[in-house]
Amino acid sequence: MKGAIIINLNELKKLPINELEAPLKDKFIALRVITGDYFDNKKLIVENNGNWFSMSFYRETCQHGSIRHKELQKLLDEKVDINKTYTISLWDYKEITSVFNSSAFKVKEYDDPIPSTIIEQMKLKMDEFIEEYVHCADCDEKIKYDEKAKRRRFFAGIYCYGCWCGDKGKHKGTGGWQEVERKETYN
Ligand SMILES: [Zn+2]
Repeated sequence: MKGAIIINLNELKKLPINELEAPLKDKFIALRVITGDYFDNKKLIVENNGNWFSMSFYRETCQHGSIRHKELQKLLDEKVDINKTYTISLWDYKEITSVFNSSAFKVKEYDDPIPSTIIEQMKLKMDEFIEEYVHCADCDEKIKYDEKAKRRRFFAGIYCYGCWCGDKGKHKGTGGWQEVERKETYN
């Protein structure tokens, strides 16, 4: 028996971030007891107009002075409070394809909801995915999620033709993501 916790995007919009963390934990424990399955309590299903997406949220745990901490200081501000800094990722509900990765964002208080700018970005990417569009995992170009695009895959990321072949992107001139994928053993 499998179970999942589903939350509507409109509910998620209003939910204080501490409620996203704490009471969900109890619900996941309940699900574990009922179904005997393991649940990752950082993952839930977000519903947008009848379509399901898998969402994970992550609170920063990096050490003061670490590379990640310096990145966050650059991105957010010098005095960034790591304990109030989060990131969100979305996939289709089967977690085959990545739909959205937020940049790190902060909340002022634990009873603040996810910032509306992040919710808007999530909604946009969900709506695009429903219309069968994804963004290249390297250059972020919007591409049609058709059968050809589905073959330009490395883990959950889909790549545009240019980044896949090495005409542009991080692996420009070295065979592209196609080459990276070919060398991957998925072990
Ligand atoms: Zn690309």
